Amino acid sequence: MLLTLIINFCLLTTMMYLLSLTYKSAEDITATAIHVPRLLLLAVMAVVLMLYPAEVAPGVIIDMRAVPIAYLALRKGVWAGLLALIPLLLYRFHLGGVGTWSAVFSAVGVVLLGGLLHRSVDLSAPRLDWRSLWWRLLLVFMPNGILIPVLRGDPAALLTVYLPLLVVTYAGFLVSLGIQRNRYRLLSLIATYEQQAHQDALSDLPNRRQFDLDFVRMDVGDLLCLVDIDHFKKINDTYGHAAGDEVLTQLGGVLKGRLRSHDQAYRYGGEEFAVIFRSPGNAAPELLAERLRQAVEHTSFTALAGHPLTVSIGVTRRGAAPLDTCFLEADQALYAAKTAGRNQVRVWPLEQPPEA
Ligand code: GH3
Ligand code: MG
Ligand code: MG
Repeated sequence: MLLTLIINFCLLTTMMYLLSLTYKSAEDITATAIHVPRLLLLAVMAVVLMLYPAEVAPGVIIDMRAVPIAYLALRKGVWAGLLALIPLLLYRFHLGGVGTWSAVFSAVGVVLLGGLLHRSVDLSAPRLDWRSLWWRLLLVFMPNGILIPVLRGDPAALLTVYLPLLVVTYAGFLVSLGIQRNRYRLLSLIATYEQQAHQDALSDLPNRRQFDLDFVRMDVGDLLCLVDIDHFKKINDTYGHAAGDEVLTQLGGVLKGRLRSHDQAYRYGGEEFAVIFRSPGNAAPELLAERLRQAVEHTSFTALAGHPLTVSIGVTRRGAAPLDTCFLEADQALYAAKTAGRNQVRVWPLEQPPEA
């Protein structure tokens, strides 16, 4: 019996590992909707585990089929568990024997208890409170095989069959849960680090990495603005570096607040920001950029106690030329805005100064 249960255990952990590979993202994990292929996989898992049972009395078999079923009921509720029971029960009826109705009782009992706990137990939570969880999870497996001593007419089977089955099934469940939770943790960490890798912590805007990705996706006609704070070094020197940081944070919010949902502001470098206007149509570049410049000029920056802050902006429209050209044009326009006295917008192509 023990050897068969060990084979069952190995099969279970292998299949649970395969199940964990079906989770591709952190959202997959927390989704409340039932993922049909996963439900089918768990239902098949239960049947596969029944292919290698231990016969503890004529017509009475035990195995770890309760684990995938309990897992499903705990994660998705009673109806998902009952659906997954269909192939399991069909196969059990096909096998027949005196243990059939005991098997139905076990499976339905596990699903009902698992489903009952479904709302109060979140198996994908970042932290599990094992003190309140361990006995509840154990409770789910209590009905599993409880009628076997009655079927055998042998109360000692409670110790020799029911108890070992309970222990092995519970252990199998904990290992299965561990496999799934490892996958959750890995995917959640990847999602967090991916997000952090493309986000600037200070301004809460996408960073240079994200800009580089979005920049190459700019279409002809889109606008690129380069925004540079005027005399920021002086602000740091006067109010301190911490105040400078606060300004960058507030400025991030100001830029973001002035854009349509499909336009995007980025923190490009230290005190340099970039804005991509997508499909601006016939909107004049100077007007869009000027709106940003004025928004900054009219903002009262908390860290500067009323001292005005200004930005210079260079803007260009993406033409048919290679993208590098587009960036150089915006940069030259920005340089022109700086040399012309700052706190202004310059648009590429730059106007030639009138001839003397
Ligand atoms: P200009 O008008 O010509 O742009 O002058 P500027 O002083 O803004 O430009 P400059 O390039 O001389 O100085 C940029 C300053 O921005 C220097 C640097 O210390 C500061 N800076 C860059 N990144 C940060 C940051 O994350 N926090 C703070 N507080 N300051 C920063
Ligand atoms: Mg500057
Ligand atoms: Mg600069």
